[in-house]
Amino acid sequence: MEAIARLAPDTPAHVDALNEQAHRLRHEDTRAALALGREALATALRIDYQHGLAYGLLRVALCQHLLAIEPERCLAHLSQGIGLFEALGDARGAGEAVNLLANIHAARNDYTPALELYQRSLVLRRQLGDRVGEAGTLNNMGLVFRQTAQFADALKYLLMSLEVAEAAEDLRAAAYALTNIGGVLADLGDSTHALQYHLRGLTLIRQTDDRAHEGSTLASLGRLLTQTGHHAEALEHLQQALQLAQRAGNLGDTGAALLGLGLAHQHAGDHGRAERLLLEALSLVRRTANRVVEAEVLLALGRNRWLQGEAGPGIELLDHALSMARDLQADHVAGRLHQLLSQVHEQAGRFDLALREFKAFYQCQQRISGQDNQRRIRALLGRAELERAHRDAEHQRLRGDELATALDAARESERQKQALLAQLAQQSDMLRQLAREDGLTGLANRRWLDAQWAHECERARRYQHALAVAMVDIDHFKSINDRFSHRVGDEVLRRVARLLRDSCRRGDVVGRYGGEEFMVVLVETPVDLAAAACEKLRQRIAALPLGDLHPDLKGVTVSIGLAGTETDPVDADLIAEADRQLYRAKAEGRDRLCR
Ligand code: GH3
Ligand code: MG
Ligand code: MG
Repeated sequence: MEAIARLAPDTPAHVDALNEQAHRLRHEDTRAALALGREALATALRIDYQHGLAYGLLRVALCQHLLAIEPERCLAHLSQGIGLFEALGDARGAGEAVNLLANIHAARNDYTPALELYQRSLVLRRQLGDRVGEAGTLNNMGLVFRQTAQFADALKYLLMSLEVAEAAEDLRAAAYALTNIGGVLADLGDSTHALQYHLRGLTLIRQTDDRAHEGSTLASLGRLLTQTGHHAEALEHLQQALQLAQRAGNLGDTGAALLGLGLAHQHAGDHGRAERLLLEALSLVRRTANRVVEAEVLLALGRNRWLQGEAGPGIELLDHALSMARDLQADHVAGRLHQLLSQVHEQAGRFDLALREFKAFYQCQQRISGQDNQRRIRALLGRAELERAHRDAEHQRLRGDELATALDAARESERQKQALLAQLAQQSDMLRQLAREDGLTGLANRRWLDAQWAHECERARRYQHALAVAMVDIDHFKSINDRFSHRVGDEVLRRVARLLRDSCRRGDVVGRYGGEEFMVVLVETPVDLAAAACEKLRQRIAALPLGDLHPDLKGVTVSIGLAGTETDPVDADLIAEADRQLYRAKAEGRDRLCR
């Protein structure tokens, strides 16, 4: 931003900089990107800079689409932009704009024009040798096939996208493809492979700065974990997904995260909470005009009502969703609807209707994963692995020398075996880590804290050790977000977390209790010593330099509530006591320790 401010206003360079910045921020802070795009547009018009005008139209249209606002204006901007790009002979811009127009059609479930436009964009991007753009378009085509339950075609395009992305060494594009392949596999009920692809996608996306896509990956992973019965992990991922989607202002992703959360609570038996979340998801998803997702939300709502004993309204919702899913050829959603309707009728003793619905369910299943499709899917996935192996083999062949090749082949197969083992070990480590770690700070998350706390209490009781616990809450943290942005807020959280971790002893437990509140468990520490340690923590945090994040950010202070025992076994509720002391520290003026 500062770089933009330094440029002379009303120059093409200024317009370009605004457009570039809008492009960078598009997912992370869509509203800010929209404002920048609009400024670029107005400036380009004023100085009659056609190239900047075309990109401004494109940037603004994308933000309007992501925010689901001004749909007509969005289309008008886009067609004007495409016309300009073509007149200017800018194939890169045209490829991007045509791809976006296709995305808009796809999001409205207008699949035929969407696929035609994707083809056009693909041609443009291939002609230019724009591999990353090509991977993106292939990915989007895969998504269209996924929405219409043509899973073999979906996999075909997504695997092509992955190959192109890997060849271009573009982490973000590869991550998109991997996660979406995982989503298709989840739709097909192959949760083992679905999980592997999701985790590969998550690992890659975390190496980029694309937090928005990290959110949609977490949402998809959260739904998968719900399906496989990992409720706690699912909830955690989905909550984080929701936060990231809301932060980016992306309606579709927010709706998807809410749907996932609703399903997770439904699986856990909290139907009241599920109902509220699903209704919220419904109103958001209706604003995005994506009918397939709307049908999925209705399916979840209908099931929720049925589970609560309301068969009548449940059936109405399900019938409505069914007609939508059928119109859209979304066999995977329609199938699940028929299956549920069959259960509903069966439970009510309407066996003829139950049988009819079951047959319809079976037909949907056949269309989705009948033998032919299964064969195609297996062949595609098998080929993807084979091609990997072939690529490696080709490498070997080019090195000549048969004997060496044979030796290498033996070593290679050993290496592959080891690599596979390492990958498996890494994936299970990653799962374990995901379940314990707070995503933002890397500290113990709330669930892991609770478990550790129970463990430490037990140890203190058994060995009659002293135990102390401190609640550390950043003062006026909300105003840091408000004044300097959420990003700065996040970085402050990370730094405070790092300082806490680095300042505590190895045996102590440091975690994120929630939002801007941390918990420190000081094991085998009498409360007087714990108080001294916490006072030192308080002072070190107050001295933490933060000026590099923003010149006006002088620093942060924390309030600490401490509770502990001397040497007695633990029986009091120390956490509640620490909380009360924290409250007192706030009331007495903050930036202090109370015990
Ligand atoms: P007090 O001194 O009374 O503690 O005031 P406060 O502003 O720190 O407390 P309050 O509870 O009013 O606000 C906490 C804020 O923390 C609100 C919420 O938006 C923000 N927050 C919670 N989690 C995150 C996060 O992960 N990242 C960022 N940037 N902000 C967060
Ligand atoms: Mg606070
Ligand atoms: Mg707080």
